[in-house]
Amino acid sequence: MKRVRFFIRHDRHDRHDTNFINLFCRGGVYSYSTPQRSVNTVMSTLLDFALKYLNHGLAVIPLWRDARKNPHLKDTLEFNHRLPTEAEWRRWARVWPDANVGAITGYWLNYVALDFDDQLTYDVWRKKAGELPTWIIKTRRGYHVWFKVQDDPGHSRLFVRGDLEVLLRAKGGYCIVPPSIHHTGAPYHTINKTLPLTIPTITEVLKGWQEKANLTEKSTIARAYVPTKTTVRIEDLIPPIKEHPNYRGAYLAWCPFHDDKTPDGTPSAWINIKEQRFGCNVCFDRQYWDVVNVYAMLNSMTNGAAYKTLRVRA
Ligand SMILES: [Zn+2]
Repeated sequence: MKRVRFFIRHDRHDRHDTNFINLFCRGGVYSYSTPQRSVNTVMSTLLDFALKYLNHGLAVIPLWRDARKNPHLKDTLEFNHRLPTEAEWRRWARVWPDANVGAITGYWLNYVALDFDDQLTYDVWRKKAGELPTWIIKTRRGYHVWFKVQDDPGHSRLFVRGDLEVLLRAKGGYCIVPPSIHHTGAPYHTINKTLPLTIPTITEVLKGWQEKANLTEKSTIARAYVPTKTTVRIEDLIPPIKEHPNYRGAYLAWCPFHDDKTPDGTPSAWINIKEQRFGCNVCFDRQYWDVVNVYAMLNSMTNGAAYKTLRVRA
């Protein structure tokens, strides 16, 4: 396998300097997926959207633009209770210029979304609910219909009607919003451009739908990290050097993405074998990568292409 090593000098204090940004945005992993637009344009679009959402009180976070749609950040729980700051988003847009955007549902200001997977389910729902003056997003196959509820919306759960299902995205989740692009290339776009309609309670717009009781909080919320099944393992890509002094199951490793030389000879990166994750304290503060992301980066591929190469077919 071709191993890409980036030899640039930077340390903790200047890791967002121009060299770093140039490397990651122009020469590096992000440039291929947006060849028709300059990175600055992509960045400002992303940032413009993010700031607009923050202005409306929507807690938005950057997500991977891949099939799994995980957050870039290791921990997003704090954004259940506060909005990210403008400074945080400026940084995220710089580090992940082609991120997708997820809006946290359920907690902050009681924003929720009905997530319809297909046209039929949406049509059946809309026939009864009527044309509601609220924010509606067209997804690749379905729709996200947003509301702001006055009562506690509870946790994300399914509502059923016959054999149709709609997922209420409430506490314990997030919902993808524009200018995100589905990993297949389909953009998420707003078809009804207005703020989420305020309603007393979500059942108001789900008359005739039954709540499916067997969805536990755990199954929707905990987003416990389940590694993607892949044909290559993280330890094959990033060889472990020695056990991590502070985290069980983790190993220190040399980072292949920067010239990893530390004064005391301790590697800057780590891998977690159980979770199949990688992180580097120098390159990627507060985030982790998985096998797919690391493989993509090492081989200058998109995450989507790497996923196709590595996935274990059922
Ligand atoms: Zn590194």
